Amino acid sequence: MKIDLVTIFPGLLDGPFKESMIKRAVDKGLVEINLVDLRSYTRDRHRQVDDTPYGGGCGMILKPEPLFEAVEDLKGKAGTGNSVVILMTPQGTSFKQEVARRLSGEKHLVIICGRYEGVDERVRSALVDMEISIGDYVLTGGELAAAVIVDSVVRLLPGFLSEEASENESFSGSLLEHPHYTRPPVYRDMEVPEVLLSGNHAKIDRWRREQSLKRTYERRPDLLEHADLTPRDKVFLDTLRNVEDD
Ligand code: SAM
Repeated sequence: MKIDLVTIFPGLLDGPFKESMIKRAVDKGLVEINLVDLRSYTRDRHRQVDDTPYGGGCGMILKPEPLFEAVEDLKGKAGTGNSVVILMTPQGTSFKQEVARRLSGEKHLVIICGRYEGVDERVRSALVDMEISIGDYVLTGGELAAAVIVDSVVRLLPGFLSEEASENESFSGSLLEHPHYTRPPVYRDMEVPEVLLSGNHAKIDRWRREQSLKRTYERRPDLLEHADLTPRDKVFLDTLRNVEDD
């Protein structure tokens, strides 16, 4: 996979991909991540990427010409014929694990990081395939939001995580993950649940499944609507509901 991040502040994205597991994915050749300076696609002496809004009002707008030229050039260089162009915007679709999973199957992503008041509307309507928001709040720019997308997509690339790790984690199968413990077995009078020390893997699996159901029921009951539940899971959830009713 190749990911091009188009930004006027490439320095902001220098760090996140040069450490830890994302760096390892880059080193292993699972993904190529390029920081593309939008100013390198300007043609004027001042390398102008923004301008004032027509109709007046505050703030600046990213101009269409450098963005169109950048995206067209990057698509051509990738040569996949099916690049996905993403605009980071608080007005976009909420980013979810299922979207990350879908994107992890693509060959080339171009992610446009907005700034100031955002981008010229023609970019949105004619250049972009997807508009993504990482939550209902407004950031100063799209760089941090884009880093979130890259991180969540790259960790789903084949060869990054073991199959077991990605199958069990939160949102896979629409459930939140079970709690985790590590050594020591007792810390400040807080004990690790006995079952985890038992060595009985069938019991441990069942305990984890039930904790996962309980967590989801308590914190994100909305997820249960789409969860893949066995008859045994349903009985367990009924017990939780009955305890609450009593
Ligand atoms: N004027 C815009 C509006 O009200 O919708 C907000 C612009 S914001 C200050 C500047 C840039 O930050 C946006 O163009 C976008 O790229 C990015 N951004 C801000 N919040 C975001 C969010 N929640 N998700 C994704 N990108 C965001």
